[in-house]
Amino acid sequence: MRVLFAASEMLPYVKTGGLADVADALPRALKKYTDISVVLPLYGFLELQNLEKVEDFELELGGISYSIEVYFTLQEGLGVYFIKAPLLSTTQHLYGYNDIDYANNDLRFGIFSASIVELAVRLKIDLLHLNDWHTALAALFIEQRSLAIKTVFTIHNLAYQGIFSQESCERLGIEPSYFNMDALEFYGQLNSMKGGIAYSDAVTTVSPSYAQEILTGEFGCGLDGFLSYHSDKLSGILNGINTEVFDPASDPHLQECYDSTTLENKYKNKVAFLKTTKLKDPRKTLFVVLSRLVEQKGIELLIKVLPEMLEKKINVFVLGEGKELYTNKLNALSSKHANLEFQNVYDEVLSHKAYAAADFFVMPSLFEPCGLAQMIAMRYGAIPIVHATGGLKDSVHEKKNGCGRGIVFEKFTKKEFSKAIERAFKLKKDTEAFRESVVFNMECDFSFERGAKSYMKLYESLF
Ligand code: ADP
Repeated sequence: MRVLFAASEMLPYVKTGGLADVADALPRALKKYTDISVVLPLYGFLELQNLEKVEDFELELGGISYSIEVYFTLQEGLGVYFIKAPLLSTTQHLYGYNDIDYANNDLRFGIFSASIVELAVRLKIDLLHLNDWHTALAALFIEQRSLAIKTVFTIHNLAYQGIFSQESCERLGIEPSYFNMDALEFYGQLNSMKGGIAYSDAVTTVSPSYAQEILTGEFGCGLDGFLSYHSDKLSGILNGINTEVFDPASDPHLQECYDSTTLENKYKNKVAFLKTTKLKDPRKTLFVVLSRLVEQKGIELLIKVLPEMLEKKINVFVLGEGKELYTNKLNALSSKHANLEFQNVYDEVLSHKAYAAADFFVMPSLFEPCGLAQMIAMRYGAIPIVHATGGLKDSVHEKKNGCGRGIVFEKFTKKEFSKAIERAFKLKKDTEAFRESVVFNMECDFSFERGAKSYMKLYESLF
C-alpha cells in the first residue's frame, strides 16, 4: 500500500505544536509496515538544501492557473515532498499571522490541498492520510474528481476549523452543490474541516476519549451534531512521541544523560538548569509548565492557583508563548515571587532541559485532544499533574491502572486543581512512592508503536 501523509507542519522543518511531532513520529513508525512518505508546504521562510525537483504541473482553481513545483528529500530515511506554490511559498509565517497572508489562508491551503491530490495521482498513491483543516479539502477534491484514492482524516484539534466566506468556494473551484449543510456549509460560510469529515473514508482523533468528547455540545465546537451523524467512521487512536528525539538516555541537550537506573544524573540536570534561572535552590521541588499560553491549556486556572502555590517552599518554571493577557499576568507574578520564573519564548533546547529538571509537570488543560507534553515529561521522569480530559485522561492515571502515573483532577475548578497540587506535595514527601512513580513512568512505552499498528489496521480495513 502506498500512503501519503499530508500535514502543515513537521519536525525538524517547522513546528508550532504537537502536529509537527506527530507528522514526524507516526510516518516513521508506519514505515515498518507500509510504503509511506510525507507532503508539506514549502513555506517562504524554509531555506532547505538538497531538495530535488520531482514534478511540476499547472493547477486550475476557480478559473485561475497556478504553477506548482514539487520537491523531494530524504529526512533521515523518511521521504518528504514539498509543494511550492504561489502565496504558500512567499509567506513568512505558516498560518499567515500578518493580514495579507491571513486573508489568503483559504487559497494558500486550498492550493496546497488540491496539489496534494494531484501529487497523489502522479505518485499512484492508494491512501492519503490528511491532518487537520489545512489538508481537509483534499478529501473533497478527491470526491469532486471521482478518484479511487482512500482517505483518512485525523483531527488534532477541532477548535481550529479553517472557516472562510462563501466566496472562497469559487476561488477554490469547489462546485456550488457542495455548499450545503450536509457538506461544507457552516452558518453561511465554508468550513474546511467539515469537508474532511464528510468526504474521508475514516475520521480519527488523537485519543479515544477526545473521539467521545467531540460528540458533545461542550467539546464539539459546533460540529458535534455533524460528527455524530458521521460517528460510524469515527475512532480515536492515542498519539505517541518520537522516543529517539525525546530520550533522556541520549539527549544531546542535557548536562548529563540518564535513565531510570541513574536518577542521580537527573538531579544534576536540575542543578545545572536552575543555575541558568533565578530559581537556584535545587532542593526545592520544581514544578514546570511548558505550553502554548492559550485558553485551551488552562492557563487562567493556573494563574488563579499560582499565588497560593508560590507561598510554599517550591520553585515554578513556566516556558511558553501566547496570549498577551496571560504573559502580562505571568510577568507580574514572576516579578513579585522569587520562586517563579517565566520565560516568554519558544525554545526547543530549553524545553528539553526543563523536562529533565522537572519534578512535576503541570498541564491543567480545559480540553486536550491528546497532548504530547505530558508523555515527554513522564519519559524524562517528571510526574504530571493533569485535568482529566481527552488524551490526558488516556495517558495519565492516578490509580495504578495502565501506563502513565500522575495526579489527575476531575472537575475543572480552582478547588480541585489546588487539591491536586496538595496531593503532589504529599507524594513528594513519600520519597519511595515518588521514586517508584518516576521509575514506572520512565519505563512506560510512549512510542508510536501501538498507535502505528492501529492506524495500519484502519488503513487495511478500507480496502
Ligand atoms: P499542542 O500541540 O496543543 O501545543 P502538545 O502537548 O500536543 O500541545 O504539544 C506541544 C509540543 O510543543 C511539545 O513538544 C512541547 O514540548 C512543545 N512546546 C510547547 N511550548 C513550547 C515552548 N515554549 N518552547 C519549546 N517547546 C514548546
